[in-house]
Amino acid sequence: KKMQIAIDGPASAGKSTVAKLVAKKLGYIYCDTGAMYRAVTWAALQKGIAVTDDLALAKLLQDFSLEFVPAEPEQKVLVNGQDVTKAIRMPEVANNVSAVAAQASVRTDLTQRQRDIAQTGGIVMDGRDIGTTVLPQAEVKIFLIASVAERALRRHKENLEKGIPSNLKILEDEIAQRDYKDSHREISPLVKAVDATEVDTTSLNIDEVVAVIMDLVAQ
Ligand code: C5P
Repeated sequence: KKMQIAIDGPASAGKSTVAKLVAKKLGYIYCDTGAMYRAVTWAALQKGIAVTDDLALAKLLQDFSLEFVPAEPEQKVLVNGQDVTKAIRMPEVANNVSAVAAQASVRTDLTQRQRDIAQTGGIVMDGRDIGTTVLPQAEVKIFLIASVAERALRRHKENLEKGIPSNLKILEDEIAQRDYKDSHREISPLVKAVDATEVDTTSLNIDEVVAVIMDLVAQ
């Protein structure tokens, strides 16, 4: 039977890396819901829409096509046909996405799109509220955590590998701030679902985390 696998947790805990690998092993679709919130944020910044203007964001979403296109080394994200894969990873988007993600109209709209994607077959979906809100019926729910220091360090190394300027202290602050905002918003805050399995990846490598998830899938 094709399953739904929900992977939630704070920023930079390694959700997307392991979610992609699990999806590949199972032949399932991978859906990066963070990329969807980032895409809306990118579009709002482009149009000069205030990131807390719920009404204006609702309007923006009326004419907003969002597509994931398979590609190597990573799938592309298209907004109204425009490739925003790189743009949505920029600091300006990262620093505004929590505000956009706290708006009711945005959450309602993207939650519906995420459920539609999940209808299409076996799915591994990562985010903040997948196990609690988007797919509460998911057969497998994981809550991935790691210390802020470890998460910032991983992101720092990734940046340096990609040639992106990076400052460890700033990264730590940004990650901690985003976690705080995501955990304290009113609608679907970042919280472990009661029936999710918490996995602390601070001292686990990627293969070990994938193995833990594959064990849960096999049960
Ligand atoms: O996963 P990623 O770090 O790319 O997510 C970016 C932001 O999108 C999060 O910090 C959060 O504000 C928002 N988000 C959310 N709900 C999700 C996925 C992401 O609110 N399911």
